[in-house]
Amino acid sequence: MTENLDWSPKGRWTARAALNRALHKKKIRRPKKCSICGARPGVDRQGNSKIHGYHHKGYEDPHKLNIIWVCISCRNKMVWARKRAMEANHD
Ligand SMILES: [Zn+2]
Repeated sequence: MTENLDWSPKGRWTARAALNRALHKKKIRRPKKCSICGARPGVDRQGNSKIHGYHHKGYEDPHKLNIIWVCISCRNKMVWARKRAMEANHD
């Protein structure tokens, strides 16, 4: 089954803006723990959490706030998996 997901840079920007608004309004809380591996990576030197909100369903409207919270290494794994899947779909 192939879903028509939007991973465009523009979609990414608006989805991130929507996420930041939701965080600001406290509609969403950023956990301290990776939801995949359970790591607690803490914060960087600027005090920003190292847990990233990953738009695992793409950036289209119903999924703008459909986030999974993951550490950078789990996020990278998912980004690579997605890239590979997209390359496979090109043929
Ligand atoms: Zn993780």
